[in-house]
Amino acid sequence: MTIFITLILTGLTIVFVAYPLFRRSSQADYAVEPEKLRELSSNRDTTYSMLKELEFDFQSGILTEDDYRDLEARYKGKAISILKNIDNAKGDAEVEEEIEDEIEKQVSKLRQSKGQFCSQCGARREKDARFCSHCGTRLG
Ligand SMILES: [Zn+2]
Repeated sequence: MTIFITLILTGLTIVFVAYPLFRRSSQADYAVEPEKLRELSSNRDTTYSMLKELEFDFQSGILTEDDYRDLEARYKGKAISILKNIDNAKGDAEVEEEIEDEIEKQVSKLRQSKGQFCSQCGARREKDARFCSHCGTRLG
């Protein structure tokens, strides 16, 4: 019986701990770009300050020149890949905006042309026509 209760408590604890993680990831889906950008920006800042510290360590003789060059190259590579990711993330956001604009344009076009097309075959309706010139459907 005690084991059973322990198991339930353990299960509840896992759910309790894991639930916010799942919740967080599902929320992140709605705001992936800003969060991703924020994370990338803070990674970039960290890498930059690491580079500065590295230079300081080298100048104060903590690191040998070889160590310094090696670490510097690594951090610079990291910084570059972060910058590329930032560009990609920004690019995605811009593309999404463009697509939204395009959809909005299409929707407003459709709204303007509402009633100008035959409901049956989709042919353009002649002004003041009572029947579709294409399929003969009576137009309202
Ligand atoms: Zn028609």
